[in-house]
Amino acid sequence: MCKNCNDPSAKHKGKVKVRFVRRGQGFTAGEGDIFRAQAGSTVLAKNGSTGVFLNGSTGTAYEGSTFTAEAGSVVHAKYGSIGRARKGSTIIANYGSHIEDEAGAKIIRRADEEEHAVAGSLVSSYAELSAMERSLVDHAWAISKTAYCRYSNFPVGAAILAENEAGEKRIFDGHNIENASYGGTVCAERVAAFDAVKNGFRKFLIVAVVCAKCPGGSPCGFCRQVLREFGLNATVLNIFNTESTVVRWTVDQLLPDSFGPDSL
Ligand SMILES: [Zn+2]
Repeated sequence: MCKNCNDPSAKHKGKVKVRFVRRGQGFTAGEGDIFRAQAGSTVLAKNGSTGVFLNGSTGTAYEGSTFTAEAGSVVHAKYGSIGRARKGSTIIANYGSHIEDEAGAKIIRRADEEEHAVAGSLVSSYAELSAMERSLVDHAWAISKTAYCRYSNFPVGAAILAENEAGEKRIFDGHNIENASYGGTVCAERVAAFDAVKNGFRKFLIVAVVCAKCPGGSPCGFCRQVLREFGLNATVLNIFNTESTVVRWTVDQLLPDSFGPDSL
């Protein structure tokens, strides 16, 4: 067992140079590199690298890399990567990745070109998003901080890029607004959506959603139906972490075979 990379079969004895990747840092690990990704860091693990993603770290493991994902980490495992997912970790597993998961690890299988007919997602790192998408993600995080959620204490933020009839585009954001009667509660996505619609921006293009306390949370059924009304083909960015993983859906994938304006 190598203490540095947690690999039981590894023989990293003696003087091993371990790269500690700290908060706010990014690191691309190459052949022979051994890394420990600490909270707030992001590591791209390339062929021949091995390492550990610790609580609060994120990264992408490419073909030929081996990794251990500890509780609280989020790792996107690409084709040909080999990983161990500990309890409490989240792995977005591409087709062809090899994940050994403990009970309590969350494994999300990505629909792949080679797996047809799966309503699925595409996974990106934050860095791979367009400037507009990053802006939406930032808006969603920011607005979640002022959520009115005194009953659930579950802040959610949403930001929608919408277009009006003149072809102008604008960002609308919203957070959840709860109510003592509970049933009067409205989700962040619908607060943002109704603001857009009220202002005449009725074609939704991109929707970014963040559950601040439970990154990776996805829109509820009510919100899916509302989003579907104004953007069946809109992209939904489901945010897993501030600076890292985003799972990309379309509204159509989140609400297949839906009832909509064309149904009447
Ligand atoms: Zn909702």
